[in-house]
Amino acid sequence: MTRPLSLFRHRLLSRCQLVAFALAILTLCASPARGQGRTIVIDPGHGGHDRGGVPGQRVSEKMMALDVAQRLRSVLQARGYRVVMTRNSDVFIPLGTRTSIANSYRGATFVSVHFNSASRSGANGIETYYYRGDSGGLAASIHRNVVAIAPTENRGIRRRAYFVLRRTNNPGVLVECGFLTNPTEAGYALNPSYRQRLAEAIARGIQRLPSGPNKPLTAGSAASADVLAPTISGPDVVRAAPRPRRTSRVRHYRSSRSKKSARPRSKRSSTPKKKRKRSSSSIIQVDWRLC
Ligand SMILES: [Zn+2]
Repeated sequence: MTRPLSLFRHRLLSRCQLVAFALAILTLCASPARGQGRTIVIDPGHGGHDRGGVPGQRVSEKMMALDVAQRLRSVLQARGYRVVMTRNSDVFIPLGTRTSIANSYRGATFVSVHFNSASRSGANGIETYYYRGDSGGLAASIHRNVVAIAPTENRGIRRRAYFVLRRTNNPGVLVECGFLTNPTEAGYALNPSYRQRLAEAIARGIQRLPSGPNKPLTAGSAASADVLAPTISGPDVVRAAPRPRRTSRVRHYRSSRSKKSARPRSKRSSTPKKKRKRSSSSIIQVDWRLC
């Protein structure tokens, strides 16, 4: 009489084990990364002697990028991700070392955090870069979320062969969180609450979550009164003109040359070339250190 009962208990136990196994599989499938690697390599741009941005820039890109990156790390860790930082202090890390770190974590997602700069203070907006074909969706997701919280222009998603993107064997994105050479956007970046919102937006993008509600900055909440500067007026040269590509590296290099060394080059140049150079000097300068 006890054998059927024992058999019933055995079957019940087996079914419970099956259910537990199925639940475990479902839990794994519903991991925070939703199919992506749960390891995120965060790369705060620049560091040490490399301040980022343009010469004489008041707000240091390396410090803003590091702060947002550290906030992003905290947000992601709280959501169950394993996070690796290419730098966690104000030190210079060569680009090759950054990609080596990224490539040592197979299946990881690489996210490089930067702020933009330009010779013209009116240049503004958010832009996101990717290179690998499998990174477009990630770039779109991060960009959509950052744009949703940033009260500025949407400069779009661009495909560029920046060193850290083309040398990384994992999906990778580089996000430019605004222009520190723009007084309004520099004011945003200097506000810790805004940097926290940037970090949370990037995290939502990594998680492929829909962008959150676009709450405007208000005094006493996300931004202080001085951050709420009036919007930029006047024509936006950056939007009106096509963005230069790798030639900007040459332009950036030339800008740091002495007048003495630059003079012979201009003498050799023809008149049309001089005009082109003058008109492009007000356009955004791509950070050649990323190349
Ligand atoms: Zn940068």
